[in-house]
Amino acid sequence: MPVVAGVDIGGTNTRVGILDPSGALFGPETFPTRGSDTVQTYVATLANAIEAAVHATHTGARLMGVGVAAPAGNCFNGTIQSPSNLSWGTVDIRSALAGSIGVPVTVANDAAAAALGEYWYGAGRAARHCVVLTLGTGMGAGFILDGKLLRGAHGLAGELGHVILERDGRLCGCGRRGCAETYASATGLCRTFEELLARRSDPCALRASQPSARDGRAICEAAREGDVLSREAFVITGRYLGWVLADLATVVDPDMIILSGGLMNAGQLVLAPALEWFREQVLPVRQGTVRIVQSHMVNGGAAIRGAASLAALQVGLPGYRLDDARFESEVAAGPVVRDAVTPGAPVQ
Ligand SMILES: [Zn+2]
Repeated sequence: MPVVAGVDIGGTNTRVGILDPSGALFGPETFPTRGSDTVQTYVATLANAIEAAVHATHTGARLMGVGVAAPAGNCFNGTIQSPSNLSWGTVDIRSALAGSIGVPVTVANDAAAAALGEYWYGAGRAARHCVVLTLGTGMGAGFILDGKLLRGAHGLAGELGHVILERDGRLCGCGRRGCAETYASATGLCRTFEELLARRSDPCALRASQPSARDGRAICEAAREGDVLSREAFVITGRYLGWVLADLATVVDPDMIILSGGLMNAGQLVLAPALEWFREQVLPVRQGTVRIVQSHMVNGGAAIRGAASLAALQVGLPGYRLDDARFESEVAAGPVVRDAVTPGAPVQ
């Protein structure tokens, strides 16, 4: 049976899912992105993980293509261009992986792939103009405007995480200061929490733990138990996020903004201050015009689905179908399709 793979290369973990002709997605298999010494070792590990995932899917499954969603992934030239959360420099992941695994490889920015996944299969099915924010190690954004993915002139559109929120602010992985992702992301939350811990003398259960143990999950648990500094870190993070959402609504005028990524595991801890600040800051004419929702696709599911679907469309996976209006807006070549995909085993 012909299948395609969808790969989501995250700053921390890489996830591999397998899409079959019925539209069922299997997986994901996960391994640490930073576990490899060199890019060559990483590509070899990735190729092995894809092959293992294919064999675990169906007896006789045959890999036809791979879609890769990566930070700073460039859909035009197939490279990952110096992602700020990985120390790889620019890598031609399309050629390297295709050479290793022997099938065509498609590359997309991870947030763009997540936007396509949400638009084709998730909350974005109810929108024509939607923006997907991925709030994890960094902040990514994918824009679907008038049913089309915004790519930009060079395949680099959508770097909302590097909009500068604070002049001379926090040092960002991109080398500049004050970028949105240094405040409104899981990493930003940790940095805010560490600043509060250093500046204030409030009792805090996390003060005695190692800094490396004070991650987003620990801060979230402490906040749920009523820890003052942890709750305050979420309020500050949420306000920065609300500020980003207000500017986004002002510039883009979307139907819907979909929030995803690890930071969203905190739910109302971050959403309540974000929405409060959004309402406070958004241009009055935009009040009430945009739905802000949480993604219900978890663990990189949207990016894996989006990337796998791009690969399926590129290689013309037999039997594979997407909603036609959405298909036409995305890929010029490929089968004419009429039916929506029936989702199979969900990505967990
Ligand atoms: Zn930056």
